Amino acid sequence: VSIIRISGSNCLQAGQMLVQNAKQRQMIKGMNNSEIQDYLNLQNRYAHFKKLYSLIDYTNTFHSQSQQQQDLIYQQIDQGIFMYFQGPKSYTGEDIVEMHIHGSRALQKKVLLELSQLNNFRLADPGEFTKRAMLNNKLDLLEVEGLADLLNSETESQRIQSTQQFLGKSSQILENWRFQLIRALAHAEAFIDFESDQDDVEFNILGKTQENVKQVIKEINEQLSDRNRGEILRDGMKISIIGKPNAGKSTLLNCLAKKDIAIVSEIPGTTRDALSVSLNISGFPIVLYDTAGIRQTQDLIEEKGVNKALQHARESDLNIWIIDIDDVIKQADGSHIVQDIKEISEILESNQNTLIFINKIDKANSQQEITDITIREKKFKIDGQISAQQNQNINTLLDTLTKKIHERLDIIDGIMSSGTNSIITQTRHRLELQKCLEHLEIFSRNKQNFPVDIVCEELRQAVNCIGRITGRVDVEEVLDVLFSEFCIGK
Ligand code: GDP
Repeated sequence: VSIIRISGSNCLQAGQMLVQNAKQRQMIKGMNNSEIQDYLNLQNRYAHFKKLYSLIDYTNTFHSQSQQQQDLIYQQIDQGIFMYFQGPKSYTGEDIVEMHIHGSRALQKKVLLELSQLNNFRLADPGEFTKRAMLNNKLDLLEVEGLADLLNSETESQRIQSTQQFLGKSSQILENWRFQLIRALAHAEAFIDFESDQDDVEFNILGKTQENVKQVIKEINEQLSDRNRGEILRDGMKISIIGKPNAGKSTLLNCLAKKDIAIVSEIPGTTRDALSVSLNISGFPIVLYDTAGIRQTQDLIEEKGVNKALQHARESDLNIWIIDIDDVIKQADGSHIVQDIKEISEILESNQNTLIFINKIDKANSQQEITDITIREKKFKIDGQISAQQNQNINTLLDTLTKKIHERLDIIDGIMSSGTNSIITQTRHRLELQKCLEHLEIFSRNKQNFPVDIVCEELRQAVNCIGRITGRVDVEEVLDVLFSEFCIGK
């Protein structure tokens, strides 16, 4: 079934024309919306089964012809469900007509062609229905972004997070802060108008306002210290596979992605740029990067790849370090060492979130019990041994990964430990909240030092920062980008 949706003040006239044949159409010429509604017995928000006719008037062409040609007069195109939503109680806030017709492309084209013959009708731009809904205050910017994320969501965690945002849970929190700050601002501003020489009165009022502001500061700080959980859930957790050339990084990526997307070859140094693949691991979105093998090299292009790999490793939320079992050397005292370059050990030391896996265990004659490994005189715990090529122990690697993902996102027994989702799902939100916090901190640091009207300006700026997140102020640029990414018809 395809749904053709028309929004705007003329949509009922257009809709009714389509559900009337040429003869019936004559009857309702010149009627207004409510007369048409009565005449067609159309109830607001009810589904009606209707026949759909062409708008082209054949009455003169086939006048007093045979029965077969008479039938053509009515030029029925299809039949289906017809619904009328009277504004403002509709998705866009305007009058909306929806026609549920059969889902053929030819039929969709035909109905759109019929509609295009009417005055003031055109195809909607991408996301235009939602844009109108926003302009008519049906949704705020944060809810629209939530809807866009919901439409793009691929994993369960993304679905949950975007639904919360779309349903206005995040907007409620922000609106509450905004309300608190506006109230504080109103109190302080009222005081400016009230001419007084009594400094202590001024100080008292500001002191009380500052108490409220401090509470908002505390709550914003809590949100900002969410370790980027919302952004990670929205955009995917970045995980890089690192290691020496030929350790089996590309093979592991292919094995996890279950399709050949990285070049696997026996010549060391094949992957010079980072390749990535989006995966769903236990309901969480992951962007997995295959990086260039890390080693000392004279080759300038390879060196660029190595530097890029190191940068990836530093910026990733999680790394998987792969060691070829042939590179593991057993010492006389039973310990295991691996020769590796300085940069890798630095990453291991600086980034707690690096898992170490030994690869190619299918090659080993007997499986050695390796629990830890020494690199440049430092001991590191081994997370497991795998064969990426033979698919051995890959489920163990996935279990370890899932555990790490839960740890990173503060998830305990499948539930966010803080009990709530993060309201920050995009860098845009984080930057505005950080700016807001800066203004609030300046405001609360200033006790008697500055005149009230100067500190009030800080509060006003803080209110605007929150307003920009929900789309109350300065949103033109954000809107253009956002709606251009929507699909047509939404
Ligand atoms: P990269 O340079 O780290 O990306 O390594 P590749 O994935 O290109 O693999 C290098 C070579 O090692 C290829 O010939 C792979 O087939 C081979 N290889 C990778 N994983 C395994 C494994 O688990 N066992 C064996 N025997 N060979 C492997």
